[in-house]
Amino acid sequence: MSHYDFIIVGAGSAGCVLANRLSVNPDIRVCLLEAGGSNRSPLLHVPAGWAATFNNPSFDWSFETEPEPALDSRRIYWPRGKSLGGSSAINGMIYVRGVPLDFAAWEQAGATGWSWEEVLPYYKKAERQQIHHDDMHGTDGPLHVQDVRDKRPMDEVFIGAMNEAGIPSNPDFNGVDQTGCGYYQFTQNNGRRWSTASGYLTPARSRTNLTILTHAHTQRVLFEGKRACGVEISRRGKQETIYGQHVILSSGAIASPQLLEVSGVGDAQRLAQLGIHVVHHAPDVGEHLQDHLFCKVVYGTKPEHSINREVQGLNLIPAALKWFFLRQGPLTTGSAPVGAFCHTKEGLEAPDVQIHFASGGTLYNNEGKIQAMEEPAVTAVVNQSRPESRGSIHIKSADINEAPSIVANYLSSPLDQDTLLKGMRILLNIFAQSGMRPYLNDRLSPGTDVDVSSDEDLMAYIRREATTVYHPTSTCSIGKVVDENLRVIGLEGLSVIDASVMPYVVSGNTNAATIMLAEKGADQLLAARG
Ligand SMILES: Cc1cc2nc3c(=O)[nH]c(=O)nc-3n(C[C@H](O)[C@H](O)[C@H](O)COP(=O)(O)OP(=O)(O)OC[C@H]3O[C@@H](n4cnc5c(N)ncnc54)[C@H](O)[C@@H]3O)c2cc1C
Repeated sequence: MSHYDFIIVGAGSAGCVLANRLSVNPDIRVCLLEAGGSNRSPLLHVPAGWAATFNNPSFDWSFETEPEPALDSRRIYWPRGKSLGGSSAINGMIYVRGVPLDFAAWEQAGATGWSWEEVLPYYKKAERQQIHHDDMHGTDGPLHVQDVRDKRPMDEVFIGAMNEAGIPSNPDFNGVDQTGCGYYQFTQNNGRRWSTASGYLTPARSRTNLTILTHAHTQRVLFEGKRACGVEISRRGKQETIYGQHVILSSGAIASPQLLEVSGVGDAQRLAQLGIHVVHHAPDVGEHLQDHLFCKVVYGTKPEHSINREVQGLNLIPAALKWFFLRQGPLTTGSAPVGAFCHTKEGLEAPDVQIHFASGGTLYNNEGKIQAMEEPAVTAVVNQSRPESRGSIHIKSADINEAPSIVANYLSSPLDQDTLLKGMRILLNIFAQSGMRPYLNDRLSPGTDVDVSSDEDLMAYIRREATTVYHPTSTCSIGKVVDENLRVIGLEGLSVIDASVMPYVVSGNTNAATIMLAEKGADQLLAARG
């Protein structure tokens, strides 16, 4: 029987940060539990390897939503990382923090102490920024943030077309103003993915006060009255109990509410119906889910203007050699190297849509994996930054092994429909610029049979095609499920620290904000110990 000061459930973006920061003091005994395995596979280090992790049971939980009413009742596939590093080991690596407005909204929702001025030091503490050396950035943190290494001619053409369409260039989306277009930066180090396992766990692994257990699927949190006292895990076919003074759920926006509910923390009526003993009535657990939803425009091009053929068949060999020996070439790019943040209407305090562009085109193959399209193509996608639509994640049974019911409720708000439609018009307008035209063949998606001048037809296309940007948040929100110190309201010895506590999804990709949350959460926990 082991007894720890802190038990952290989930070694993802947040969990690895916590494991490092909490175990700095050798007197504090920390146990990190991860349901998945190690992060040794090259697929988790070669940036382009992420495509092969999709629907791969070794690295991906492969969730899906319930049929989404506003998306033609389609079930949307939701990949989630399952290894040391969690989703930071399979994500697109784009480093974006969000905008001050996001954190003003967090504060209004009850997250006292989480204003922009108060979170910025934690973004900086985490960051090891390659090129921007100013007040907005940190340069000696564990998280490498580096420039795109494989800048392609079509990236420049698309940036030029965005300028032509009136979107100004912005050299730093994480500087004083997010607005504009340009290259993203990636959480990479010298062409290698830099997950939180690489940045935070590797340097801490040899600490004797840190125990890391992989393949440790936490089944439930144990309580003595209203105090959490440990967890029950299943590991290599055996049930084990691990005791600790403080349990931290860092299992992500899907599994953290799931774990709370199977452990008896949730809506009392819902739990009682499933035969679960109610430890604490917390009706907001699993509610208020948010996610970003994108829709795409794909154009055919000449082969030399698209990356597609470079990453398929025998061409993969030189690409792999280039990565292996030089850390250069197409395999250094996992997702979209180019992007923009724009306003769909006048008078907004911050951009309300985000664009991603890649000089390639992908599809899901029969195994559900992402692969490059046969034909040469380029793709741009757009998503609303601050959606209003909210959904929920709830367990269907008391068995942790049964995936929960995910209802994203995408586009249930008229504002969200209108904003995505306007975002699609911005994308189509960029592709229509004179600088872009010489490089394009036919429009592949929406196909030329879609009358994109008609709002109705374009909306029908969105309902058919739109999908997740992989940013679920807010299912254990600050102010509703946890307090501003990220402790579960009404219970003792239990915190949730991961993307689920964001009161609102941030205006951008969610990894950096999750890491910031964990940096601040670790400080709060250490301060409380005195
Ligand atoms: C495919 C994909 C692409 C993305 N692209 C980007 C991007 O380019 N930029 C960006 O900023 N964000 C991106 N994101 C989002 C970002 O990665 C996530 O918001 C972030 O990683 C969430 O961190 P987390 O700590 O909340 O959860 P996770 O990192 O998902 O960690 C949760 C961990 O808990 C473990 N776990 C779950 N249940 C249990 C259990 N019962 N017992 C033990 N362990 C458990 C999981 O295996 C996992 O390791 C992407 C996400 C995905 C999936």
